[in-house]
Amino acid sequence: MPEGDTIFRTADVLRAALLGRRITAARAQPHPALRRVPDLSVLVGTTVVGVEPRGKHLLIGFDNGLTLRSHLRMSGSWHRYRPGERWKRPARRASAVLETAESVAVAFDTPVVELLTDAGLRRSRPLRELGPDLLGREFDAPEGVRRLRERDAEELGNALLDQRAVAGIGNVYKSEVAFLEGLDPWSPVRAFDDDELLRALRTARRLLQANVRGGTRVTTGRRAGGQGLWAYGRGGRPCRRCGTPIRQDRQGELARLTYWCPRCQRSRWRLRPRCG
Ligand SMILES: [Zn+2]
Repeated sequence: MPEGDTIFRTADVLRAALLGRRITAARAQPHPALRRVPDLSVLVGTTVVGVEPRGKHLLIGFDNGLTLRSHLRMSGSWHRYRPGERWKRPARRASAVLETAESVAVAFDTPVVELLTDAGLRRSRPLRELGPDLLGREFDAPEGVRRLRERDAEELGNALLDQRAVAGIGNVYKSEVAFLEGLDPWSPVRAFDDDELLRALRTARRLLQANVRGGTRVTTGRRAGGQGLWAYGRGGRPCRRCGTPIRQDRQGELARLTYWCPRCQRSRWRLRPRCG
């Protein structure tokens, strides 16, 4: 599942393949996942001047001032191939293709591919509203806490996923961060004090940074098979800290799965009633 670490790594791979190269062919094609099909032919002949992750968005800049924004959501991925190399997925699943003399970059099953002018980039709502980027060179943690506070009534699990609060956390890290910090993902943000939220964000940044190189995601420090995560994907299995069965349930409007230990992450619903 693409989270901030995946996008960061994808940007590294595409940067190595595309930066400073001239686009020889570019196309987007109708795909059930792609909402709007942009005309990418205007990119042919341009040179790639930047490849940048921003939260879970990937921005590819061209020397004619245009930027290609893609968002992988749950299903998308960018692949890089050599010309003529066999693709690992069927061509009909490609949302967009960029070619240079040396490589072919393909966005498979990607629901958001759009071409933006400079002004459009500045106006782009999903980008403008992004919270501090957990994988940014600088991460403004107090600002992240402030934005979580704006979501005081929301369940922590939902607030952590809200890219307008902080950018980069997806479903896996949501469960892992809450577990590591002993925070109940079902309690509202207001149940937690600023220090707890600050620690959660620092832990999220540390975990994302530790996983930008790729391979299997590990939050436990143990790479051995099946040992990598504390809670995510472990419903019904014993908590690695206390042995209580890990619980799983769907949370939020998008019904994303949340995993937690009911003992290590006790509910705060009754602990700290709302004041004032
Ligand atoms: Zn436990």
